[in-house]
Amino acid sequence: MPAHSSLADMIGNTPLVYLREISEATGCSIYGKAEFLNPGGSIKDRTALGIIRDAEAKGQLQPGGTIVEGTAGNTGIGLTLIANALGYKSVVVMPQTQSKEKIELLDLYGADLRLVKATSYDDPNHYVHQADRLAEKLNSERDNGAIWARQFDNLANMEIHNRTTGEEIWQQTDGKVDGFICSVGTGGTLAGVGTALKAHNSDIKIGVADPMGSALYSYYKDGELKAEGRSIAEGIGISIITDNIREAVIDMAYQISDEEALPYIYNLLKHEGLCLGGSSAINIAGAVELAKDMGPGHTIVTVLCDYGHRYQSKLFNPAFLRRMKLPVPDWIDS
Ligand code: PMP
Repeated sequence: MPAHSSLADMIGNTPLVYLREISEATGCSIYGKAEFLNPGGSIKDRTALGIIRDAEAKGQLQPGGTIVEGTAGNTGIGLTLIANALGYKSVVVMPQTQSKEKIELLDLYGADLRLVKATSYDDPNHYVHQADRLAEKLNSERDNGAIWARQFDNLANMEIHNRTTGEEIWQQTDGKVDGFICSVGTGGTLAGVGTALKAHNSDIKIGVADPMGSALYSYYKDGELKAEGRSIAEGIGISIITDNIREAVIDMAYQISDEEALPYIYNLLKHEGLCLGGSSAINIAGAVELAKDMGPGHTIVTVLCDYGHRYQSKLFNPAFLRRMKLPVPDWIDS
């Protein structure tokens, strides 16, 4: 393998890993795309790079310029590392409810971090709207300008997943993939991978695994954006149809509770050595549902979005789990 010229070249080309227990239980071959192996530790490194490269190509991002983004954390982490590597500055607007581990990483990496109150999307103080306004202000104040990354509606997001994540999955399964499923934060992953796979074979089933508190399940079932309950999984769940998710062709939708999903990541850590975050738990539970619906013998792929140690103070913390009224695995409690 030739040497990479910078961290930007280390993003993507992640392996697939066979998920043994759920494959044996369903009679399908279920694989996880190991996105936690990206240099920033999550799938959102791809989005950050896709958006930066697109803005460079369009002449919107000047050398030394600033990239502003509203993020649940992972896009901010990716943007900051890439900005450091390529000579840009990053400003990250994030709701203060996100894990302290992500906040600490952003501080460590030198992001200009603006923590804001968590509010609903229709509130003008929602982190996405604050990022928009801040980018405009910084663009007029800073010599090299500033851009808003706009990951929810910027189609450079799904495009990078179309060209890389989706294409890699097709190659890595030798075209044998029958189904793909994941949850949605911006919709970039689901729309991009779905577009790539359906272009190769329109029979491939594309599923959405929707956590409680997110409106996509009801949207795909009944055409209504309605949400109930809540999830502790960070970075996923939406109440609006973003420009990215609008591009997705969805065949099946599943609503997944934390109670159903979290045991999968505890078992994966204990029995298969994979330490994963909450969105991976929702994705894996969705893959099991898709496998049950499709029947034995199929090849199904989902996404392992980030590492569990990014959520050690929540997902792997008995006191937090009890406070959320979620079951605590014996071995975490002891
Ligand atoms: N998992 C995690 C941990 C994330 O941070 C995100 C993005 N916010 C996602 C999943 C969802 O990915 P996408 O934005 O491509 O829908």
